[in-house]
Amino acid sequence: MTKSYEFRGREAPILEQLGVRVIVMRAGTFVDLQKSMELTLREEVEALLYEAGIKAGRSSTKVLLREWGKKDFMRRWAEFYSSDGCGWFKLEKAEVEPEKGGVVRISGSFIAEEYGRSEKPVCHFLCGFLVGVFQELLGVELTCEETKCAAMGEQYCEFKLERCDTDLANHNQIKRQTSAKSSRY
Ligand SMILES: [Zn+2]
Repeated sequence: MTKSYEFRGREAPILEQLGVRVIVMRAGTFVDLQKSMELTLREEVEALLYEAGIKAGRSSTKVLLREWGKKDFMRRWAEFYSSDGCGWFKLEKAEVEPEKGGVVRISGSFIAEEYGRSEKPVCHFLCGFLVGVFQELLGVELTCEETKCAAMGEQYCEFKLERCDTDLANHNQIKRQTSAKSSRY
């Protein structure tokens, strides 16, 4: 006998946080999406998720800055994305200067943990996301490269952010071709 499931919605499916609609999603769903895109788009997925991450990072940081202001922002930001908040990652270190960029280190990346073992870094979305966040905070153009990834067996994911101007971003984009990473927005 087929089991039937019945569900009647009573309210609109709206969950809001800080005045914007949010959803709760299984981490594996995001990775399923990434892996499905990799099957068809291959190397282009890296650049696509990186660009999407920049947009997401900028938009969400605007919301958080509006809510919290700049004072004590990084501490609140780290808490917001930790297991006390969204559960995306644990921020281990963030040293980014407007003049020369810097390094961000996270553990427990939801992407790396759900992805499984990989020979290459897999947190392309978070890589772009950090660009968006720090561009919004520092008001400078940046590029980011994931230099260590937990999916490769490292203890952390580590991201190297570099200051760039638009010309340099264009140069890098040509150099890296399909896996280009540009901080232009
Ligand atoms: Zn990673």
